[in-house]
Amino acid sequence: MDDFMTMVREKDPGEEEFHQAVEEVLESVKPVIERNPEYRRAAVLERIVEPERVIQFRVPWMDDEGQVHVNRGFRVEMNSAIGPYKGGLRFHPSVNLGIMKFLAFEQVFKNSLTTLGMGGAKGGSDFNPKGKSDNEIMRFCQGYMTELFRHIGPNTDIPAGDIGVGTREIGYLFGMYKKLKNEFSGVLTGKSLNWGGSLIRPEATGYGCVYFAAEMLATRNDKLEGKTCLISGSGNVAQYTAEKILHLGGRVVTLSDSYGYIYDEQGIDSEKLEFVKELKNIKRGRIDRYTEKYTSAVYTPADQILDHNPLWGHGADCCFPCATENEIQRQDAENLTNNGVQLICEGANMPSTPEAVDIFSDRGILYGPSKAANAGGVAVSGLEMAQNSMRLNWPAEEVNSRLKIIMKSIHQTCLDAAEEYGEAGSYVAGANIAGFVKVVSAMLDQGLV
Ligand code: NDP
Repeated sequence: MDDFMTMVREKDPGEEEFHQAVEEVLESVKPVIERNPEYRRAAVLERIVEPERVIQFRVPWMDDEGQVHVNRGFRVEMNSAIGPYKGGLRFHPSVNLGIMKFLAFEQVFKNSLTTLGMGGAKGGSDFNPKGKSDNEIMRFCQGYMTELFRHIGPNTDIPAGDIGVGTREIGYLFGMYKKLKNEFSGVLTGKSLNWGGSLIRPEATGYGCVYFAAEMLATRNDKLEGKTCLISGSGNVAQYTAEKILHLGGRVVTLSDSYGYIYDEQGIDSEKLEFVKELKNIKRGRIDRYTEKYTSAVYTPADQILDHNPLWGHGADCCFPCATENEIQRQDAENLTNNGVQLICEGANMPSTPEAVDIFSDRGILYGPSKAANAGGVAVSGLEMAQNSMRLNWPAEEVNSRLKIIMKSIHQTCLDAAEEYGEAGSYVAGANIAGFVKVVSAMLDQGLV
């Protein structure tokens, strides 16, 4: 395994997040490889870390002043053993090939856990949507799709949203795809309701994450009611995580964006949450505006120099990181556990560093890793694809109840796989093993392709 990791690092130096994601899966699947010696001969590890296809392209676009800009577009089609490629698009200045590969790699196992037939992919661009006009966003999305359209399709690769890509961007991307292909199909998910979207898709990642947390707490005869919860982020996943926690009687005291966070000791209730939704989704403002309206809250600007994030220093029962990768570092994990946290449930992708995860598991904290806990989003994307194929729309109750069933099943699958391989109670081992076994067995069935 050490040799294998060295090979991965040497082959693609500088892709730290990808190496981190691969190393975590490798650690977990050691017993699977030992039990199945034929996997070595078939080089399943070498095959699973190598994307089936990487597409990188230039996206030139013009701003409102007539100035031309050039961004880099990506789509990493990682693995299609169990279905067409599926995974979101991220528009953020930090996007590079290593980040795309880490997200696509995680997506393979996550999609496998959902019980639906979807392969793994991820895409995006280093384009920064902040401060851009609607017209600039539209021109960028059109430029991006002008290349991407030839690589995707409803039975080939079905992108969705992620950081910086919401319903507005999906609309512009879909419009350009439709024009170029002369075809109205379910090629993207996260569409608006009146032209092919699914009810509960916007809510799905956050709601699913909270359903997963409730399942974890139930294993200790506990529930979310009355629990104080820390949430990072204030985008799609954070908003609906907060909403579902409130539905289940929990108390939310923090939200953040990349500039800082708010702590409201009186709790962010549903009226305050509606204010945040309007602020972030419609006015596209900063979270510090919250304190102008609700004076019970305190705003703390982000400090890049600190080795910890003060948001995670507040005492709470549960913690839902919903912003970005590696946002909970070793010192944050120390602070959270010293303050009595009982549960960490990841809405964002890989938000905890390996050192933080070790602290959670050493101290017996319930820890729901992202590839299991935030799989509700892609699961409902899969349900959107099913509805598009049938040209039907299911009512919200039906989609929500399917989402609940899927999250319950993912939770049980993780526990069963962990138990089978001698790691009882480890959601990390369970998620990695269950996701891996299904994909690898499909790869072997399909021969050397
Ligand atoms: P949004 O763009 O809607 O929101 C992202 C939030 O995180 C914003 O509040 C943003 O602040 C903050 N943020 C982004 N980057 C950073 C950073 N580097 N440091 C601090 N804060 C940051 O994205 P989503 O809510 O969709 O995605 C959040 C996380 O959830 C990501 O990890 C994503 O991969 C994951 N995820 C999303 C799914 C989905 O269905 N949308 C599905 C599964 C996982 P600001 O407004 O300042 O940019």
